[in-house]
Amino acid sequence: MNRFEFARATSVAEALSLVAEKPGSVWKAGGIDLLDHLKEHLLEPSRVVDLRAAKGLDEIAIEPDGGLRIGAAVTLAKVAAHATIAKTYPALAEACGSAASPQIRNVATIGGNVLQRPRCWYYRLESYKCLKKGGDVCFAIAGENRYHVIFGGGPVYAPHPSSAAVALVAYRAAFLVEGSKGTRSIPAEEFFVLPDKDPTRENVLKPDEILLAIVLPQATSKSAYAEIRERAGFDWPLVSAAVALVVEHGVVADARVVLGQIATIPWRSTAAEKALVGKPVDAATAEAAGRAAVAGAEPLSDNGYKVELTATLVRRVVASLA
Ligand SMILES: Cc1cc2nc3c(=O)[nH]c(=O)nc-3n(C[C@H](O)[C@H](O)[C@H](O)COP(=O)(O)OP(=O)(O)OC[C@H]3O[C@@H](n4cnc5c(N)ncnc54)[C@H](O)[C@@H]3O)c2cc1C
Repeated sequence: MNRFEFARATSVAEALSLVAEKPGSVWKAGGIDLLDHLKEHLLEPSRVVDLRAAKGLDEIAIEPDGGLRIGAAVTLAKVAAHATIAKTYPALAEACGSAASPQIRNVATIGGNVLQRPRCWYYRLESYKCLKKGGDVCFAIAGENRYHVIFGGGPVYAPHPSSAAVALVAYRAAFLVEGSKGTRSIPAEEFFVLPDKDPTRENVLKPDEILLAIVLPQATSKSAYAEIRERAGFDWPLVSAAVALVVEHGVVADARVVLGQIATIPWRSTAAEKALVGKPVDAATAEAAGRAAVAGAEPLSDNGYKVELTATLVRRVVASLA
C-alpha cells in the first residue's frame, strides 16, 4: 500500500475538516473493506480519517415519532444484538447478524457495510482495468460471472454486496448525511443507484460527505430476512431477500420485497409486491410471489441458477410470515 497520513477524528465536524483540508483523503470505519482496497492498490489516499471515535456516530436511539436512529459507526454485532431491533426490525437484525463472521461483525459498522464496494473479482484485482475502475470494459460479461447479477446489469454486472442494505430498503429507511453543503436525508431507495449513468458508483454519497446515521420509520409491518449461501462459513450470500408485509383483515395491504446479491443495487421487486397485495399470506401466494420476483430476469452465461434460487427464497421468506 502507499504511504498515507492517519488521523483519528473525535467529532463529525473535525472529521469533515480533516478531509476538506487534504484532497485525496478517505473515511475509515471498521476498515474491513477499506484495508482491502489499500492493500490491493485500488485506493491510494493521502490521508485516512478514522471515524470510530467521532462522538455520536456509534449510538442507537429511539426517535420521538417511534422510529429508530442507528449511528453509522454502530457495529453489525451491536445492531444484531439490540433488543428493539431484533423485536421490531427482525429483518435488519438477521441481515446484520448473519453477515461475514463474528470477528468481522464485531469490527464492521453498518455505515461501512452499506458503503462497501462490490465483490466482483475483476474489480478487486489491480490488473483488471474494468468499468468500475474507470476502464472501458466489464470483464464479467464474457468472463467468470457465476456470482454476478440477473437484474439491473449494464454496463457493469457486479452485485451490490451489502446484506444490511436489503433490509433497510425494505423498511423504507433514510440515510442522513452531512457534508460541506450541510445535512440531507436520502431515502434508502434513492441512495443506491444503477450503474447506467456512472458505472464507478453504487450510491449518491459525495466524497466530502459523511454518512451520519440510518433512520428507520416506526415499524408497522411483520418482516423477515433470509439468504442462501454456498456454505455456512463466512462469505457473502448467493441471494438474499427481505420481505415486510402489512396484513389487514387477513390480506396483505402493503408489501415490500427486496432482493440482495442478484442486482447492482438492493433490488425492489415490485412484481412480487403486486403478487402479494390483496392476497392472504399462504402457500399459494408465497409461490406466486416467488415466480413474480424472477419474471424478466436476465441471467448471464453462468448464473442462471440464481433465477431458481431467488424464486425459492422469496417463496420461503413470504411463507415464513404466514
Ligand atoms: C470474509 C468476509 C465475508 C463477508 N460477508 C459479508 C456478508 O455476508 N454480507 C455483507 O453485507 N458483508 C459481508 N462482508 C463485508 C463486510 O461486512 C464489510 O466489509 C464491512 O461491513 C464494512 O464495514 P467497515 O465498517 O469495516 O467499513 P470500512 O471498510 O471502514 O469502510 C467501507 C467504505 O465505506 C466508507 N465509509 C465507512 N463509514 C463511512 C461513513 N460513516 N461515512 C462515509 N463513508 C464511510 C469508507 O470510506 C469505505 O469506502 C464480508 C467481509 C469479509 C472479509
